[in-house]
Amino acid sequence: MGCRAIEVKTGTKFTRLTVTSKDVIYTKKGEYKYHCICKCGNEGYYASSKLRSGHTKSCGCLRKDMRKLVKIETMIDKDAELTPETLLWVVSTKKELENTEIVLP
Ligand SMILES: [Zn+2]
Repeated sequence: MGCRAIEVKTGTKFTRLTVTSKDVIYTKKGEYKYHCICKCGNEGYYASSKLRSGHTKSCGCLRKDMRKLVKIETMIDKDAELTPETLLWVVSTKKELENTEIVLP
């Protein structure tokens, strides 16, 4: 029975990543990776420990959005004209990121 039980259910969300199936990859370190789909549509395998610790929150798009947000906020500070779509994006992304800690490198 060497295998550890899979402690995560399909549909479990880790910020933008949702576990899609019970498809699990075991690594040499005895760790396992879940197959997840990101909010943006990207799929991949993510280490369970990193998901649980909050280290992995998305396929990478969250960090990109964070950078975009910073850039747009700089534009807002400079009174740049923004499209309603951009402003809407800013509002919804800010709301999403409110409770999400992102460390920019
Ligand atoms: Zn993504």
